[in-house]
Amino acid sequence: MQNTHSLDRIAVVTGGTSGIGAAIATRLMEEGWVVVTVSRRSLENSLVSQTSPVAGTLSHIGADLGEKKGLYGVCAELRRRFEKLDLLVNCAGSISDEDRLEHVAYEDVERTLRLNSLAPLFLTRCLADLLRSANGSVVHIGSIYGDIPDTDVAAYCLSKALLPQLTRMQARSLAPDVRVNLVLPGHIDTPMTRSAPADYLEAVKATTPMRELGRPEDIASTVVFLASEAARFITGAEFRVDGGYMANVGLAT
Ligand code: NAD
Repeated sequence: MQNTHSLDRIAVVTGGTSGIGAAIATRLMEEGWVVVTVSRRSLENSLVSQTSPVAGTLSHIGADLGEKKGLYGVCAELRRRFEKLDLLVNCAGSISDEDRLEHVAYEDVERTLRLNSLAPLFLTRCLADLLRSANGSVVHIGSIYGDIPDTDVAAYCLSKALLPQLTRMQARSLAPDVRVNLVLPGHIDTPMTRSAPADYLEAVKATTPMRELGRPEDIASTVVFLASEAARFITGAEFRVDGGYMANVGLAT
């Protein structure tokens, strides 16, 4: 069992070593949380900022959450370390290199669904009693592409489309002890987004009312709010953080 004080707020952030997850982990640490990141990366390669004065502590579990063995290994390790959990952020996610509807391979659809949809389902279920012990909360990181039928990233869209329903069901089943909410980022400036073609990103900015990509910190501040006492009556809800992109759908600029 890790040496945590009963007043410590403990958070697990999957995908917490890069992009949006790293910003969430950094922000929680700045606010004094005990943070555990889970991802395929090692802690040495983590992008979590440990340079600014932080009050919290950071540890890491390396695992492939797209594999049943990795997922249940993480659960066992967290249950060994902690008696309670205040926050679970299901942020790990990926898109396969070939994800066009007409070409994507069966195995790639399966892998995408396992990581992006099944990991949030089973990680939450496996840690539910720890979350209950803390009256904690869960935040899933979905995507506006759960609503956009983009055939170039077909399995990704499908995997993210499952999360609103999962959020509502888990919110019902874990209430009143644990709140479960969903954040839907738009186009955020992370390694995942930077792999997209430059002309595509310019077109995205042109059709985003705020005229820029979001920052990972924009998602982190939403997650911190949802984990706070200020959000005590919010569960089963969805928060789009997209610079107005979805408000502009169907309109050229
Ligand atoms: P990223 O590629 O920078 O980070 C992804 C994280 O997930 C990394 O820490 C990586 O190690 C981890 N990961 C990937 N595969 C894993 C696996 N099999 N097992 C364990 N960990 C794994 O991406 P990001 O842009 O920060 O995306 C984070 C989340 O936000 C994803 O769920 C993504 O779908 C979602 N999202 C991103 C955007 C965006 O514009 N960047 C928009 C909407 C939603």
